[in-house]
Amino acid sequence: MRILVVEDEAGIAEALQRGLTADGFAVDVAHDGVDGLHLARTNPYVAIILDIMLPGLNGYRICSALREDGNSVPILMLTAKDGEYDEMEGLDTGADDYVTKPFSYPVLLSRLRALIRRAGATATPTDQLRVGDLMLDAHARRVFRGETEIELSPKAFAVLEYLMRQQGLVMSKEQILENVWDHAFEGDPNIVEVYVSRIRNAIDVAFDRSTLQTVRGVGYRLIDDQR
Ligand code: CA
Repeated sequence: MRILVVEDEAGIAEALQRGLTADGFAVDVAHDGVDGLHLARTNPYVAIILDIMLPGLNGYRICSALREDGNSVPILMLTAKDGEYDEMEGLDTGADDYVTKPFSYPVLLSRLRALIRRAGATATPTDQLRVGDLMLDAHARRVFRGETEIELSPKAFAVLEYLMRQQGLVMSKEQILENVWDHAFEGDPNIVEVYVSRIRNAIDVAFDRSTLQTVRGVGYRLIDDQR
């Protein structure tokens, strides 16, 4: 669940990055419009939070450039105070929603999740992902094996959500990293193994199951082992 924040005010960008990271997103930040457009064009984001007044290239232009590319990533615009005109223009250029500065983080988060949900609704009719009796509720942020609730850290949750959305397909470490960690991640790709092993303990070992499988030399896949 990777998010791009394009915001030149360092304080706001940092606060968003901190908040969204704590809420389980992988967050990339661009501080100017040119960098923002480049990142948006070259990475798989579930949504973009886009300021309007930016050095280099403004938010309207980034938004219309992405839509001209045929990129339908959900875009949440950050507009200045009392900017009714801004909001209209933002929605005209293809933004999906806007939040007026100064905004409250919980409000922004719920608008952002609504956008991601709406965008996903065409592909998956529900937030409740199921693989056999394993159920992940992406909206409520809860995981169950049968009736038993499983506690996972935000990052482990994000890895599991990604594997559940790709159910049955083998995903490489690199694909998992690219989709669940952010651009700034420069650590050891084997971090994926650490999370897979934690998830496996939580969803499989504890239940004497084997749904999260390692395909040696290729990657990981999640299957229904009782079918
Ligand atoms: Ca700005």
